[in-house]
Amino acid sequence: MVVSQAPAFLQIKDVVKDFGGVKAVNHVSIDIAKGEIFALLGSSGCGKTTLLRMLAGFETPTSGRIILNGHDLAGLPPYLRPINMMFQSYALFPHLSVEENVAFGLKRDGMPKDDIAARVEKMLKLVQLSKYAKRKPHQLSGGQQQRVALARSLAKRPDLLLLDEPLGALDKKLREETQIELVNIIEQVGVTVVMVTHDQEEAMTMASRIAIMSEGNILQIGAPSEVYETPANRFVADFIGNVNLMDGTLIDDNPDHVIIECADCKHYVGHGITGNEGMPVSVAVRPEKIHVTRERPEGEYNHVRGTIKDMVYFGSHTVYHIQLGSGLVLKVSESNIARHRDDPLTWGDEVWASWTPLSQVVLTQ
Ligand code: ATP
Repeated sequence: MVVSQAPAFLQIKDVVKDFGGVKAVNHVSIDIAKGEIFALLGSSGCGKTTLLRMLAGFETPTSGRIILNGHDLAGLPPYLRPINMMFQSYALFPHLSVEENVAFGLKRDGMPKDDIAARVEKMLKLVQLSKYAKRKPHQLSGGQQQRVALARSLAKRPDLLLLDEPLGALDKKLREETQIELVNIIEQVGVTVVMVTHDQEEAMTMASRIAIMSEGNILQIGAPSEVYETPANRFVADFIGNVNLMDGTLIDDNPDHVIIECADCKHYVGHGITGNEGMPVSVAVRPEKIHVTRERPEGEYNHVRGTIKDMVYFGSHTVYHIQLGSGLVLKVSESNIARHRDDPLTWGDEVWASWTPLSQVVLTQ
C-alpha cells in the first residue's frame, strides 16, 4: 500500500470510469475530511452511483486513484476495505431478527460471542431500537427498518460509510424526520460518510458539503449555503432550489460596477465580475429575494414590470408568477406575515418586481 502525505481522509484523485465509450465518471477529484457527511448530487445517469461503487470496490476505476486514510485502495476487494455501503432497499435478511441482522457481519468476521452481543446492544441503543431487538424486519415501520440497516452498517465500525439514496424508500414526511435522525447518529459515531442522492433537499439537509454532478463531471463542490447562494453556473443554479434566470449582455464595464441588459430590465452589478462589453451572461435571482410592489421602485436598475398570472398559497408564503413583457415568467416567493395584508394582490394585477444587486448572481457560463 502507498502511504499518502496529503491531509484529506478520503482522496479521490482524477478518477475516470469508462464503460466502453461511455465516460460515466470523467476526471473527478474530491478531498473529503474525516467525519464529514459529503453528498454526491445529480440527476439520473450523472455518474454518482458509479463513483460510489468505485469507493466500495464494486467497480474498478479506468484511471485515477482512491486513497483512504493514507492507503491506496487499488486492487483491494470490497470485503477487505474498511468501508460499508447501505443501499436504498436496506437488504435486511427477512428471516433474521433485528439483533441477528445487526450481528450478521460481526459473526461472519469471527468476532467472539460476548463482544458481538455488547456491540449489537450498543448499536441498537444508538438507533433507539433496543426494545425491538427480537422483532423481524416485517414487524417494523419503514423508518425503523432503515435504522436497523444503519445499525448493521455501523456495527463493524467502518472508516467510511457509503449511503446510496438512503431514504429513497420512505415517504416524504418520514424522510424529512429521518434525515435529521440519521445525521445525529452519524455525528455521534463520527464516521465519514459519502452519500448519493438525486434529492437536493436531502443533500442540503444532511451534508456538510455537496458535489453537483452532470454527465460524469463535477460542476461545483461547496457547503449547501455556498452552492445555493453562489452557484457556479446555470445548471447548478437551476438544479439547487428555484431560480429566475434572465439572459442578457454586458453593456457597460466600469472599474466598480457593470451593467447587464436583459430583455425586461437592466441589472446593476456592483461586485465581483469582470468581462468585455457584449459578453453574454445570465443573471440568477432566487424567488425569495424578489419583492412585489404596486408602485414603481426608484432608480433605473433591478426592477421589472409585469402582470400576476398565477398565485400559489403555501401558508407561510405565497408564490406569484409574474408575466413579463419578454414572455419570461418571474417566480416570486413572499412571506405571508405582513406584506400586502391590507391591499392583497390578485390575478391580473399590474405590479413591479424588484431586488437588490447583492441578491443576484451573474453567471458567465
Ligand atoms: P441513477 O440515479 O439513475 O442511479 P447515476 O447518476 O447513479 O444514476 P450511474 O448509475 O453512475 O448514474 O451511471 C452513469 C452512466 O454510466 C450512465 O450513462 C449509465 O448508463 C452508465 N453505466 C453505469 N453502469 C454501467 C455499466 N455497468 N455498463 C455500461 N454503462 C454503465
